[in-house]
Amino acid sequence: MKNYPVYRPLIEKEEIEAATQALELGWLGMGSYVGQFEEAVKDCINAGDRYVAAVSSGTAALHLGLLVAGIGRGDEVILPSFNFVAAAQAIIATGAEPVFCDVYDDTLCIDVEKAEELVSPRTKAIMPVDYSGNLSDHDGLTQLAEKYGLRIIHDAAHSFASKYNDKEIGSFSDVCVFSFDPIKTVTCIDGGILVVRSEEELNIIHEMRSVGMKQSTSVTYKNRRPVTRDVQRIGFRYHMANLHAAIGLAQLKKIDRIVKGRRAACLYYNGRLSRVSELILPNSDFKDVTPFIYCVRVPSEMLGSFRDYLGKNGIDTGCHWIPMHTFTFLKNYRKGDLSVTEKVGSEIVTLPLYPDMVKDEQDAIIEKIVSFFRV
Ligand SMILES: *Cc1c(COP(=O)(O)O)cnc(C)c1O
Repeated sequence: MKNYPVYRPLIEKEEIEAATQALELGWLGMGSYVGQFEEAVKDCINAGDRYVAAVSSGTAALHLGLLVAGIGRGDEVILPSFNFVAAAQAIIATGAEPVFCDVYDDTLCIDVEKAEELVSPRTKAIMPVDYSGNLSDHDGLTQLAEKYGLRIIHDAAHSFASKYNDKEIGSFSDVCVFSFDPIKTVTCIDGGILVVRSEEELNIIHEMRSVGMKQSTSVTYKNRRPVTRDVQRIGFRYHMANLHAAIGLAQLKKIDRIVKGRRAACLYYNGRLSRVSELILPNSDFKDVTPFIYCVRVPSEMLGSFRDYLGKNGIDTGCHWIPMHTFTFLKNYRKGDLSVTEKVGSEIVTLPLYPDMVKDEQDAIIEKIVSFFRV
């Protein structure tokens, strides 16, 4: 029996050669490859007037994004409960409190009207996430943020190489965060990117990612050791390593292929699964979005047996996500009506999706899905 993992990163000879070169260079920390990776990301997202900083993970990027936006103790940040737990952890790490909001039933992204009902005098920011093949209502969120003077930390871990109203994701947000972890659209093994509007914010991030030490990139990006004599703010060991940036650069060179492959596989699933009336498929034509996961909704009473059946047939499935407000650590934070989130959380399942997925693989998976519902 053939096995189908949920994810299969595209690691080919280019990535392996890039890693070897980075190791042979002998400068393992943050250096020239990191500078090049930042420039390549900036090009890719068409963020000419923005400032881009690479960090060690998407979670680190969320944490620094909140800090640079001035979020801290006593503040509240509104986010969808339907997100990866890293988002709430990053908020709590600043001393602020997450406030859990519902999502729209069709896009599974934050419900802007319900978010407005949750705004309090302590609300300082909103943290939307673009979910799988859909994008948040960024225009509505910008209006909400302007009305109440909120910062927006845009968790775009799912929407790298996507466009909203013809604008590249990353090119228009207040603060935008990407993840390049092993399963994302593009991987550095582990890495994150922050996109900010001002050089001042960029400089603060540069200090915070290097345990608070001011390290001029004009030195470090030449693979030279900076001399730092003072520390003026809190910092973390959140820099990106050269090795990881080198792998990310190799991945970005094949971004067109990755985008095409992922979109085509999602479209093929949507087309062939549309005749299974029990399923709710992603409400997307995948024209402007590049998902790293493909998620469908199964009637909740069938979800367990559906996943078991596919598992017995060698098809691994995932769950994005268990709503965060149900976790022991998070259950006592403020929240609004989460009826859509709770329903979706009991129905959602992630099917295998790879950038280099071939039709035979998808046909075999689709056949098993259809046979589960038809026997
Ligand atoms: C992957 C992910 C993160 C965290 O990124 P890491 O690089 O794994 O730390 C945050 N938010 C969302 C929506 C993600 O999918």
